[in-house]
Amino acid sequence: MKLQERAVVVGIGISNLALIRYLVKRGVRVTACDRRPAGQLGDRAAELARLGVPLVTGEQYLAPLADHDLIFLTPGMPKHLPEIEAARRRGATISGEIGLVLDLCRAPVIGVTGSAGKTTTTTLIGEIMRAAGRETYVGGNIGTVLIEKAEAIPPEAAVVLELSSFQLQLVHRSPQIAVVTNISPNHLDVHASMEEYVEAKKAIFRRQSETDWLVLNADDPQVAAFAREARSRVVLFSRRGDPGGRDAAFVRDDQVVWRRNGRELPTLLLEEIKLPGLHNQANILAAMAACYLAGAPLSAVREVMTQFTGVEHRIEPVRTLDGVKWYNDSKATSPAEAVAALSTLPAPIVLIAGGSDKGIPFDPIAPLVAEKVKTLILMGPTAPKIEEAVRRGGYAGPIQRAAGMDEAVALARAAAAPGDCVLLSPACASFDAYRNFEERGRHFKSLVEALQ
Ligand code: ADP
Repeated sequence: MKLQERAVVVGIGISNLALIRYLVKRGVRVTACDRRPAGQLGDRAAELARLGVPLVTGEQYLAPLADHDLIFLTPGMPKHLPEIEAARRRGATISGEIGLVLDLCRAPVIGVTGSAGKTTTTTLIGEIMRAAGRETYVGGNIGTVLIEKAEAIPPEAAVVLELSSFQLQLVHRSPQIAVVTNISPNHLDVHASMEEYVEAKKAIFRRQSETDWLVLNADDPQVAAFAREARSRVVLFSRRGDPGGRDAAFVRDDQVVWRRNGRELPTLLLEEIKLPGLHNQANILAAMAACYLAGAPLSAVREVMTQFTGVEHRIEPVRTLDGVKWYNDSKATSPAEAVAALSTLPAPIVLIAGGSDKGIPFDPIAPLVAEKVKTLILMGPTAPKIEEAVRRGGYAGPIQRAAGMDEAVALARAAAAPGDCVLLSPACASFDAYRNFEERGRHFKSLVEALQ
């Protein structure tokens, strides 16, 4: 992508503000747009004023797109608004902050996408590359905003990016090592369809070259099928057994194996891994493959895999009180993620679920709820939908409604007996009551910590 004299940046969040600072420094005349009034942008509006960047807000916020040929969008916004479509038809470049990072970065990039497991896999890769002694930058959907540093990152460093489907709609280059963890329905409130969501994910490998690597989950047929469309070299990973191929990462006889050019290297025993759950075995295999391809030695892989215990808000142990174990899985913002947590923890489980609606069916959680949940506590606008789905799926246990997290925690405390787990795994986004899942998770943890 070529920088131009003028650019418009839509959606003034933290990363786009950093992007604007970068563009202004490079001499680009920037117009900033946001639907929210300047008053709601707080300090960001003041910084734009200091930078001399005009700000267009309100219903007509997309009007500046009509006379610009370089447009940066915030990832979460719908990409089919009429003004954006019109710009695209005119041949305008439509990109995002991370798209420009990929263009500017001289170091090889490891990119991770998928419906679940992105943050865990990205974090693992970052930790392993650090343990391998490489100068490492972790960014994208997590970590720091990289745009202002991108040009200064030395070619021998490692850059690890978590890439959401929204971000991948705004890139013009693919990472040298691309990882796809899995695909399940998600974000159907913003993506026009499941097809669009899957197409967006494919951008992680679409512009790869023959010398690049694509790491795919052989246990997910939709992901494994990407191999047929890839120009790059493919490495499959599987926690179910040898997926075949000269290069692969897999579990065999309780051992994690890495095969490169047909030669096998046993790396670690499953029992040495601290991260709980089968889903995390998949994340470990994906991370391991990416790191080996990026040149990390076995010692670095082993060091991290045998010590890393997880990321906050992902089946995070909070406390044991009167023999009841409490877990915060606030990051489970989709049914597939709640399924992962329900598969990981032992029954009986008191489950707290519900939140804001993303338009995804809840039926996938029903079998595990029927099998392992002793009491289901529901809150938020999705409560009736979840209740219907689990009843349809055969759950016959008690369902209680909570007006909010305080009540949910109190109900869970009353329902749980020694030996039980209480799990907050909402299967829904948090926007009905919180700014984000982190705030929801912290609220839950503070209530649990305060229990007596
Ligand atoms: P993401 O960044 O893609 O949202 P995370 O690594 O933050 O994923 O994990 C979020 C939740 O998703 C976890 O708590 C777990 O419930 C579930 N999860 C993680 N990895 C996987 C996986 N490989 N397969 C299925 N579910 C997973």
